[in-house]
Amino acid sequence: MQRILVVEDEPTIARAVADRLAAEGFAVEIAADGPAAVAAARSYAPDLIVLDVMLPGFDGLEVCRRVQAEHPVPVLMLTARDDETDMLVGLGVGADDYITKPFSMRELSARVRAVLRRVERSAAPPATPVETATLRAGPLEIDQGSRRVRRDGREVHLTPTEFELLGCLARNRGTVLTRAVLLEQVWDWAGASGTRAVDSHVKALRRKLGADLIRTVHGVGYSLEVPQPVGGGRGDA
Ligand code: CA
Repeated sequence: MQRILVVEDEPTIARAVADRLAAEGFAVEIAADGPAAVAAARSYAPDLIVLDVMLPGFDGLEVCRRVQAEHPVPVLMLTARDDETDMLVGLGVGADDYITKPFSMRELSARVRAVLRRVERSAAPPATPVETATLRAGPLEIDQGSRRVRRDGREVHLTPTEFELLGCLARNRGTVLTRAVLLEQVWDWAGASGTRAVDSHVKALRRKLGADLIRTVHGVGYSLEVPQPVGGGRGDA
């Protein structure tokens, strides 16, 4: 049975989230403030933490930092506003996904399952040669077997979600993928309410890989495009 730690100081939300996840077969524990969350992460050893940002004691960012420093665990962050999500992504807090309040319990459980699936996928040995192939796009090298990414030969650390998103864009390079398509392919979630998560993770990728690789097509979506070297010629060797 997979264990989930729900960290939320609002009792109504904490209860609703915990009940839903328990009904879906997860073991659930609740912590209501920062210090309790860090202690529970240690004693309960959850497979995933659903973590509210604004908490008494110290906030979700600090919880995330302290917990990840001790033992890496996937985190789904609950944020109050879209701009709060952007801010957290900008800070590189290291959550695996973000969900903005208010959210439906259906969306929450879909996102929890998607994060757990991605983490499982990243831990399991890849099954087919297609999945282990190294994708190259200009300065970018994506080793799907070892799940390592390099830009100009330098290794860049990505979260499982960022890795899946980059892989999806790279396999379809030059093609504009809509937010809805990315949401379905990467997050396994077909719902308009999650499209902001796509934007936030694209921002995170740009921050880590440089701003020149992922192009925004306004009103449509994103595509991976490789900058051409000065003097022409194809960038992918
Ligand atoms: Ca709160």
